[in-house]
Amino acid sequence: MGILRACARVFKWLPVVFITAIIAWSYYAYVIQLCIFTVDNILEKVVYMVFYHLFLFLFLWAYYKTIWVSIATIPKEFYLTDADIDRLENEERGDRQDAILKQIAKNLPVSTRTLAGGIRYCDICRAIKPDRCHHCSVCETCVLKMDHHCPWVNNCVGFSNYKFFILFLMYGLLYCLYVAATVLQYFIEFWSNTLGSTPGKFHILFLFFAAAMFALSLISLFGYHCYLVSVNKTTLESFRTPVFSSGPDKDGFSMNTKLENIKQVFGEDIKQWWMPVFASYGDGRCFPTRTESEDSDHLLAERQRWAEEGMESDTTNTEDNIKIDICNSGRSAHYATSEQQCPQPSLEPNGLTAVTIDPEAGYDNKSNSIDHHHM
Ligand SMILES: [Zn+2]
Ligand SMILES: [Zn+2]
Repeated sequence: MGILRACARVFKWLPVVFITAIIAWSYYAYVIQLCIFTVDNILEKVVYMVFYHLFLFLFLWAYYKTIWVSIATIPKEFYLTDADIDRLENEERGDRQDAILKQIAKNLPVSTRTLAGGIRYCDICRAIKPDRCHHCSVCETCVLKMDHHCPWVNNCVGFSNYKFFILFLMYGLLYCLYVAATVLQYFIEFWSNTLGSTPGKFHILFLFFAAAMFALSLISLFGYHCYLVSVNKTTLESFRTPVFSSGPDKDGFSMNTKLENIKQVFGEDIKQWWMPVFASYGDGRCFPTRTESEDSDHLLAERQRWAEEGMESDTTNTEDNIKIDICNSGRSAHYATSEQQCPQPSLEPNGLTAVTIDPEAGYDNKSNSIDHHHM
């Protein structure tokens, strides 16, 4: 088993080795074969090389950061204690398990739920899942704000490296477009047979094909992730709408403006957006949700109505059922029975309050293991 695991581990690095080999070969083809041996004009040589090295540097920097930044996993307060695990596992009825989880999660900043309305729980990690967190079966752990597992970087793309991943796509695309654009003239000469008998002919030919091919695949992926950032969704959330206590909401994490959504990932300082340096808001545990002041007014009104109608006698239900996530609250005007305070208060400057109710019961015994391959 040990050997199999070791083999699997080596195997997972193959896509990274493949990409690195392509980059190394493209370096040889571009710098040696094209710039040194083929291009005659000195000025052209210098300009080509300067910009080439600039794009290559940015591309490698973002690629390196995406691969090697360690993924953010569940903080310890979300893990169940041994006593809680015993309690949960000795209980066979799903609704009771869910009640136990609800009680455990009472002081945790969680506002998303399972489809059945229960607390999201990973039975592999034995932890309550923070919002936007998913279990990755390749990494064998829960990953905060998991986007997808990317085999090309042999890492999960999530809260800790999403900005780097997007920059990796962007610089990869720029690199390919730049190479394709500058090689094009010599590529045409190759076909029109005016390139002479340069030994690098084939390198230049394949360089253009490879750059154009990678550019095509990167452009769609980069475009897709630009869209996702602008609406503040992860890839997983675009496939599976997040469920809040009030029900599914596909734009549940989206801020009021696209700029605010971009800042969630790229940070406040626009001057640093281009750099693969971590700048995302928050700590990955809780996220501002859409301002729902109308909803909270509505909920309070509902609550009042229940009280008036004497429906609040069933306190065990309502105590846990109305929660206000004041995670990032600068405007937490409405409080209900149980407040959930994000352990790290200065998560997001915008101050958004989300009111969540979870009347649904049901314990999703699956850990939502996701092995999502993308790219
Ligand atoms: Zn897990
Ligand atoms: Zn993973």
